[in-house]
Amino acid sequence: MQHRFTKILATIGPATSAPDTLRLIHDVGVNAFRLNFSHGAHEDHAKVVKRIRQISEDKGSPICIVADMQGPKLRVGPFKGGSTELRYGSTVTLKLGDSEGGDDVIMVPHPELFAALEPGHVLKFDDGKLQVTVEKNLGKSIKAKVNVPGKLSNRKGLNVIGAVLPMSAMTEKDREDMAFALDQGVDYIALSFVQSPQDVIDAREIIGDRAKIIVKIEKPSAVERLDEILELTDAAMVARGDLGVELPLEQVPVVQRRIIKKARSLGKPVIVATHMLESMIDSPTPTRAEASDVATAVYLGTDAVMLSAETAVGRHPATAVAIMDRIIRAAETDPEFWNFFRNRRLASDATSEDAISHSVRGIAEIMKCKAVFGYTASGSTVQRISRERPPCQIVGLTPDQATANRMAMTWGVHPLKTMDPSNFDEMLLHIQHLAKDYVGLETGDKIMISAGIPFGRPGSTDTLKVATVD
Ligand code: PGA
Ligand code: MN
Repeated sequence: MQHRFTKILATIGPATSAPDTLRLIHDVGVNAFRLNFSHGAHEDHAKVVKRIRQISEDKGSPICIVADMQGPKLRVGPFKGGSTELRYGSTVTLKLGDSEGGDDVIMVPHPELFAALEPGHVLKFDDGKLQVTVEKNLGKSIKAKVNVPGKLSNRKGLNVIGAVLPMSAMTEKDREDMAFALDQGVDYIALSFVQSPQDVIDAREIIGDRAKIIVKIEKPSAVERLDEILELTDAAMVARGDLGVELPLEQVPVVQRRIIKKARSLGKPVIVATHMLESMIDSPTPTRAEASDVATAVYLGTDAVMLSAETAVGRHPATAVAIMDRIIRAAETDPEFWNFFRNRRLASDATSEDAISHSVRGIAEIMKCKAVFGYTASGSTVQRISRERPPCQIVGLTPDQATANRMAMTWGVHPLKTMDPSNFDEMLLHIQHLAKDYVGLETGDKIMISAGIPFGRPGSTDTLKVATVD
């Protein structure tokens, strides 16, 4: 099977959490799984982590697990019967509390909202699909008029436009969820509604080196301080669901390009998320526009594309993954995909790691290399090679399981957990064996090997060898 460079991150939910389904969507093409802590009990997430780790062990392939924190995201409460219909022009009542709402009554468990809202403020529900305007704030209840009608179901998101709510970046729930997720040994923690560089620093304080951090860019304030925030994080997500509600819709594609470009130049994985194949929640095929949207993210050089409700609660989770896989492969077979990277050279740091990474792409082009084998302790060298977007697969070799898992979500990387060889000759033998048995290369294929000798010291890459599979 042809190597795929752009990775697929799939959100797990009731539609996919069964062991057989997880295995199926992994086999169809999922490289990384997202646990959404806005939904589900800890014990359910624990089961899913265990199942994913089992699949990884059975297949001998590292898998990345992302624990996505809810953050200070406002959500409506539950409804009698699971949902309610907001009718155009009608007046609805928002009430403080977390019991079941009903006809024209929406429960909202966030006192901050009732303290801040004034007539004229606009509330949007469910990623902006529904909209009401505040008419009266009575303290513990709010009267609002429906401008954009539709069905509102349990615990859908709620965004306030034009009011700043006094909420901290990390809620009590986030702290508990994060402690739990770290105990489960997840590979990345995703931070929702990051607003400032300080939010990343605060999270890092808690997380330490137990996991890496993904910042979700979904607030206007994060877009304003994008460069500083990306400097501090390990990876980023273009969280288009909330971004497109908080910012004017037309800014989403503009900001998407900016985030991908900046994250890539820093050599940090970037994920494009939300609504990618939205219609496949119900339909067995996506719209043409959705297919085009996935391809656009791929052409821009995103590391990963994400499925949300499509795999969490959709009717065709495996088909959504299979179609995403096909769309990615089609774009990656287009010479234009490679021209874009060739024409857009990045500045390199004055390090042997960057010099070697830069050479990898040149040698891959000249010699038509099939793969570069990169020994890496922390993942840093492989990350720098990936940043160059070279036209050959990047085999990331590491003795560290967490590094291997994380590399599963990095552009172009085929991670393998292996012991470091003890010397140069042993390395060459090791690679010959891996090339045929684990990477599917054939006699005569040109390859490269990058390493830091002696092995095992992070950031020590100083050697690049060109070789032929024999
Ligand atoms: P969410 O994040 O699904 O947790 O809201 C992604 C987004 O906002 O796009
Ligand atoms: Mn979001």
